[in-house]
Amino acid sequence: MQITKTHAVMFASPGMGHIIPMIELGKRLAVSHGFHVTIFLLEAEAASAQSQFLNSPGCDANLIDVIGLPTPDISSLVEPSIHFGIKILIMMRETIPTIRSKIKEMEHKPTALIVDLFGLDALKLGGEFNMLTYIFIASNARFLALIMYFPTLEKDVEEEHIIKKKPLALPGCEPVRFEDTLETFLDPSDELYRVFVPYGLVYPTADGLIVNTWDAIEPKTLKSFQDPTLLGRIARNPVYPVGPLTRPVDPSKTSHPVLDWLNKQPVESVLYVSFGSGGSLSAKQVTELAWGLELSQQRFVWVVRPPVDGSACSEYFKVNSDEPRDGTPDYLPKEFVSKTQERGLVVSSWAPQAEILAHKAVSGFLTHCGWNSIIESVVSGVPMIAWPLFAEQMMNATLLNEELGIAVRAEKLPSEEVISREEIKALVRRIMVEEEGCEMREKVNKLRETAEMSLSCDGGGSGHESLSRVADECRRLLERMTFISNNGKEDEPLRRQCPPPSKCMDLSSSMCSKV
Ligand code: UDP
Repeated sequence: MQITKTHAVMFASPGMGHIIPMIELGKRLAVSHGFHVTIFLLEAEAASAQSQFLNSPGCDANLIDVIGLPTPDISSLVEPSIHFGIKILIMMRETIPTIRSKIKEMEHKPTALIVDLFGLDALKLGGEFNMLTYIFIASNARFLALIMYFPTLEKDVEEEHIIKKKPLALPGCEPVRFEDTLETFLDPSDELYRVFVPYGLVYPTADGLIVNTWDAIEPKTLKSFQDPTLLGRIARNPVYPVGPLTRPVDPSKTSHPVLDWLNKQPVESVLYVSFGSGGSLSAKQVTELAWGLELSQQRFVWVVRPPVDGSACSEYFKVNSDEPRDGTPDYLPKEFVSKTQERGLVVSSWAPQAEILAHKAVSGFLTHCGWNSIIESVVSGVPMIAWPLFAEQMMNATLLNEELGIAVRAEKLPSEEVISREEIKALVRRIMVEEEGCEMREKVNKLRETAEMSLSCDGGGSGHESLSRVADECRRLLERMTFISNNGKEDEPLRRQCPPPSKCMDLSSSMCSKV
């Protein structure tokens, strides 16, 4: 047997915020490290991912196979009202038998399995097919630290945090404030807590943790992961900061209506407003935001979504399309539209965000603080208004505002209180007009340089080196497998032996009953 090419099989969870960086990771493995890559996606997103991202620059379609898997019907397993995170988890778990049979049929046997954080149940396929296993975190190291550390907490420490609302001291990192903690961790009697918290114990069982971050943006947390007395004691396996992985700007995308409009605006004059692939605002907040933008007297592009009262993430599951929808949405105040039509553009479909942020007319980003949006803003040198809505976005907003100094934010959390039009006006002007905005722009540009350096292949950038270590490990496994198949069995196990801790042994069965 003489297979010379390493082959990574990747399993991405639904949601563009997970799929886009997974595809970028696949591209890097293929283009810079000579891998063949297979990406499994649920069918509904596969077509959209194919059309929007795989044809983007830097990707040779021959190097990456995207396989759409039938979306499993989980209606008999869960109540329709269950949290979308649990739905994703169960859908991904139910897809494992299909992935298993696809891998069995593969002529080019995979060397590595890379799963998204919602696909941890698939890690068992690593042992079945002698693949190295990696978990890909499409978010940052701080988020990883929290989900790994939380299930190891003594009960009284956990209570101090979630009942007495004291900050949680993460080893070697900035403490996590109560308001910033993920909703998952807030109520031990809740299904979300019972399902997700024990998964934190599964992370150390993978051969490595690949994180979309880099040294300069999260120095303290990454150092703590390297230190066996701090987070390294919990992780026990290597953490590879390979970021920032962002979709490159597509130079062929020149005639999109938003880009056409931006081409007519002065340099550094436009605020871009977007809440990611699934974030939504209440009807009252949409109205306040509209009038806040109007009062600021600044130019803007606003990607709007119909208001949803009571849930900031209910749109997350919808597949986003590139198709522009006609007309101005009727949920926006009528006079707002007429008053701002000279200097504002409202878009009610998927916008080409990477190209917008890289456009010379754009100089501020009002963002829901999804990690991809943040790093896309950083690599374009654009300071932000942090408007966190759900998941780890509150922690991300604190990182941007208090530690990196590249974003302003409202006094109160948007999830707790409607942000008034006056406050929005002030936030917009702070970033777009005042000296504070210029200082932030300088800081974010410095960070942008570190991002470029991290990915540099020639200069030994830290992100590139991290991924090279993953690639070397895979190559070594491939060589040993080739040796074994040519010369008979070796005594040594092929992969690091790390049994899952007892607490997570029965995770799958705990979710078999209807939740
Ligand atoms: N995105 C886009 N156009 C849109 C909305 C989102 O291109 O109209 C992309 C955005 O560039 C980013 C991803 O979708 O890459 C959203 O990921 P993020 O982590 O920021 O947030 P999520 O959608 O996961 O909450």
